[in-house]
Amino acid sequence: MLAEKAQRMGATLVRATVSRLRPEDGLWMAETEQGALSSGMMVVAAGAWSMTLLEQLGLRIPLEAERGYHLLFRDPGVALSHSVMEAESKFVTSSMEMGVRSAGTAEFAGLDAPPNYRRARVLARLTKRMMPELNLSDTQEWMGVRPTLPDSLPCIGELPGHPGLFAAFGHSHYGLSMAPQTGRLVAELVSGITPNIDMRPYRADRFN
Ligand SMILES: Cc1cc2nc3c(=O)[nH]c(=O)nc-3n(C[C@H](O)[C@H](O)[C@H](O)COP(=O)(O)OP(=O)(O)OC[C@H]3O[C@@H](n4cnc5c(N)ncnc54)[C@H](O)[C@@H]3O)c2cc1C
Repeated sequence: MLAEKAQRMGATLVRATVSRLRPEDGLWMAETEQGALSSGMMVVAAGAWSMTLLEQLGLRIPLEAERGYHLLFRDPGVALSHSVMEAESKFVTSSMEMGVRSAGTAEFAGLDAPPNYRRARVLARLTKRMMPELNLSDTQEWMGVRPTLPDSLPCIGELPGHPGLFAAFGHSHYGLSMAPQTGRLVAELVSGITPNIDMRPYRADRFN
């Protein structure tokens, strides 16, 4: 929906994998399997994969893939009127359009390791303990990768030493909630507008 709106406002949507970013004649080039895209300004918003592009430019930012799992109960037989956090085991259960979903866990296993769905399946027993009426017969497992930095804050702003190249990644557990504000900040920065908040906590070189 957002992509459609952006296109109606004049944006061009290109679906491609960027293999490399490089500066050339005052522009940033993004090399893809469909050829190179160029722009005076570029925003790296590739989540936990952002450093695969930035390390090639010599940048060192301690971004980790903090993997999380969820288990969807597709025919739960029960519903919740609001999300519930099981504080002891640190997971959240919510009623969704597609059923009841329990999500949580933090696994540091890098970007490439195969999912360990035992971490999702354990949520069945724990959710059943909280909701004894829950039907466990039809479940679906999922693993996702949170882009996480040591202080749990994102990197937002121009990358030091790389004029025109901007960071917008590292939103850890809150990327969906923080996306609108990050989008606004990045739009201001690339337009040359100084944001009305202190951007220093989000600098990419704060770990140096
Ligand atoms: C179990 C779980 C539950 C969560 N619950 C919540 C929640 O309740 N609320 C909340 O706010 N957040 C939640 N999060 C966190 C949220 O999902 C992340 O913070 C968010 O997805 C980060 O957004 P992003 O756009 O930076 O990265 P991503 O969503 O990972 O998107 C990055 C995109 O970049 C693409 N990409 C990567 N490399 C390249 C490349 N070289 N070329 C082209 N494209 C590339 C990827 O394919 C991907 O589409 C949860 C995460 C997990 C795992």
